[in-house]
Amino acid sequence: MSAPLPPPVTPAAGDDVPTLLVKIFGKDRPGITAGLFDTLAAYAVDVVDIEQVVTRGRITLCALVTAPAGGAAAEGGLRSTVHSWAESMHLQTEIISGRGDNRPRGTGRSHVTVLGHPLTAESTAAIAARITGTGGNIDRIFRLAKYPVTAVEFAVSGAETEALRTALAIEAAKLGVDVAVVAAGLQRRAQRLVVMDVDSTLIQDEVIELFAAHAGCEAEVAEVTARAMRGELDFEQSLHARVALLEGLPESVVDKVRAEVRLTPGARTLIRTLKRLGFQVGVVSGGFTQVTDDLRERLGLDFASANTLEIVDGRLTGRVTGEIVDRAGKARLLRRFAAEAGVPLSQTVAIGDGANDLDMLNAAGLGVAFNAKPVVREAAHTAVNVPFLDTVLYLLGVTREEVEAANTHE
Ligand SMILES: [Mg+2]
Repeated sequence: MSAPLPPPVTPAAGDDVPTLLVKIFGKDRPGITAGLFDTLAAYAVDVVDIEQVVTRGRITLCALVTAPAGGAAAEGGLRSTVHSWAESMHLQTEIISGRGDNRPRGTGRSHVTVLGHPLTAESTAAIAARITGTGGNIDRIFRLAKYPVTAVEFAVSGAETEALRTALAIEAAKLGVDVAVVAAGLQRRAQRLVVMDVDSTLIQDEVIELFAAHAGCEAEVAEVTARAMRGELDFEQSLHARVALLEGLPESVVDKVRAEVRLTPGARTLIRTLKRLGFQVGVVSGGFTQVTDDLRERLGLDFASANTLEIVDGRLTGRVTGEIVDRAGKARLLRRFAAEAGVPLSQTVAIGDGANDLDMLNAAGLGVAFNAKPVVREAAHTAVNVPFLDTVLYLLGVTREEVEAANTHE
């Protein structure tokens, strides 16, 4: 038997305790926050809440404090002292009497990240109206990044994350901005593994097309790809058909293709930052280990898996060996990497652009469609349609400043 718990401590401000909201606005300079609380300290009030932001050199400081003991006379004294202090500092001030703490935040909390390139006032108005229309309340807004896109995050309460996601996805498509909605809470901070597709996600190219260019069979490969897109071939059939066209290519082409691969802008920043945050990072590809193994080494990835081109006597045989990585295979590999990393699936993030990636995107805790086709975009949890891979960091709540500060201190 454990000892009985002590009675709960009375909160500093119950619902009926008189409180004062002290709001300060003006040109920011050192000592304003200390100055205000120094002034308030003379009245022995307690702090219930504080919020402060500085936007283009202007400070907005809101302090919610308990009303001073001593009734109206004491409150009058506090008001005039704060006003004189503010005047001496050339600050505007407003003091509002009330009762209790802030209205408690509603249940159903979400983070809504909006990426604009640029972010227009019109888009911001439409997003805010949709949030309100879904029953959500915007509790807080702050900027995550101004480069390479403008990213702002809305902390929203009072709406179901799923309903908000659906409503905002429709709005985002109309506006041409990216909106990601994720549930708030510890889960968001617990992401530990990111698994990416390679072709047209981590890199700008389709590796099979790079090989095809060396074999002089781009048109034939493109035709097979088109047939697969029309649903006439499944992935495995199209893989075999396309690889067969590479038969006889000398092995030396592998090095040439590796050198031709172009990383997606922001890829290095994304991976470097994720590693600093303690994430494990992997890639899965319907392409070839001859390229993904090289990427794993160059980028310091923890996991990489793909199909393997068979090479015999220095030439490609036109066949692949080993386990085929297709749509189901990518989801299977995500699960395998998660198990090896000791991370539950709910704490994984998957990023991809193709129909091939859909199972993996749906299996992950957060699936991000990256510059994806509409069918993938609609099925994924969230979509990024700007061509910068590091914007995925903003969906995880990492700010540009944090990314840059980490680089500076390298
Ligand atoms: Mg792809």
